[in-house]
Amino acid sequence: MESAVEAVRRLNRMGMFATIDILGENVRSQQQATRAADNYINLLKTIAASGIDSHISIKLTQMGLDISDEFCFDNVSRILETAAGLKNFVRVDMEGSLYTERTLNLVYRWHEKYGNVGAVIQAYLYRSEADVAECIRRGISVRLCKGAYREPKEVAFQAKEAVNANFVKLAEMLLKSGHYPAIATHDGKMVEAAIDQANRLNKRNGEFEFQMLYGINRSGQRELVRKGYRMRIYTPFGTHWFPYYLRRLRERKENIFFIMRHFFRD
Ligand SMILES: Cc1cc2nc3c(=O)[nH]c(=O)nc-3n(C[C@H](O)[C@H](O)[C@H](O)COP(=O)(O)OP(=O)(O)OC[C@H]3O[C@@H](n4cnc5c(N)ncnc54)[C@H](O)[C@@H]3O)c2cc1C
Repeated sequence: MESAVEAVRRLNRMGMFATIDILGENVRSQQQATRAADNYINLLKTIAASGIDSHISIKLTQMGLDISDEFCFDNVSRILETAAGLKNFVRVDMEGSLYTERTLNLVYRWHEKYGNVGAVIQAYLYRSEADVAECIRRGISVRLCKGAYREPKEVAFQAKEAVNANFVKLAEMLLKSGHYPAIATHDGKMVEAAIDQANRLNKRNGEFEFQMLYGINRSGQRELVRKGYRMRIYTPFGTHWFPYYLRRLRERKENIFFIMRHFFRD
C-alpha cells in the first residue's frame, strides 16, 4: 500500500488524479471477502491521512458477489459508508457479462443510498446503450471502456471497428447528458473523438475526465494533462496480479515487456 501511495503522489505531482485498485477477484469465502473490504476501508483511511488525491476502484467478485447479492451489498456498504465520511468516491469495475445485470442493480441500490458510487460500462456489449441511458437517467457517473473480457457473439461485438463505433456513440451520449463521465481508453482515436464531441457540445474540461491504466501510454497521459484535460490513472497493487496481467497481455502482446520491467523494477 505504501508503494501505491507513493506512486499516486508522483502522479498527483504531474497533475494527474488516481483511482487505486487492490488486485483480487472471484473470492469464494465470506472471510476472504470481508478481509478484502477491510483492506479497502484501511486504504480509504490511508488515502485521507496521506493527503493524496485518489478514488478507489473495487471488483464485486472480490467483495463476495459469488456468495450472494445480499452479502455483497452489505460488505460493500461498509466501504461506501467510510468513503462517504471521508468525502471520497468508489468506482465499481465491470467484470464478465455473467455479472453485468447483478453488478448494475447493486450499483443502482448503493447509489440511491450513498450517492458516492459510479458504474463502468463496456462498449463491446450490445446492452450497453440501454445501460448508459439508465445511468444517465439515474444521475450515476459512468466510466466508459471498451471491455477486457472474452465475450461470445451473442452478447458482444466481436470486430474492433464495431466496438470502436459503439464507444464513440456511447461517449457522445455521456458527454451530452451524463454525470461527470470518465472516458477510459489508451486509443488515440477514441480520445480524439471524445475531444471533438466535447468541443461540439461546449463541454468544459472539468465536466468529464480521461482515464488510463498505470504505466500504459504515459506520453499520451502527459500530453492530455498538458492540454488541460483531467486525467485519472487506474493504479492497481497487491499480490493477486495474475488475472489483471493476462487481460493486459491479451490486449497487447508488447505489454509483456512492460509488465516484466515493472515486475523487477517496482
Ligand atoms: C482506467 C481504466 C479502467 C478500466 N476498467 C475496466 C473495467 O472495469 N472493466 C473492463 O472490462 N475493462 C476495463 N478497462 C479495460 C478496457 O476495457 C480495455 O480492455 C483496455 O483499456 C484496452 O482498450 P483501449 O481502449 O486502450 O483500446 P485498444 O483497442 O486495446 O488499444 C487501442 C490503441 O491504444 C494504444 N495503446 C494500447 N496500449 C498501449 C500502450 N501500452 N502504449 C501505447 N499505446 C497503447 C494503441 O494505439 C492501440 O492500438 C479499463 C481501462 C482503463 C483505461
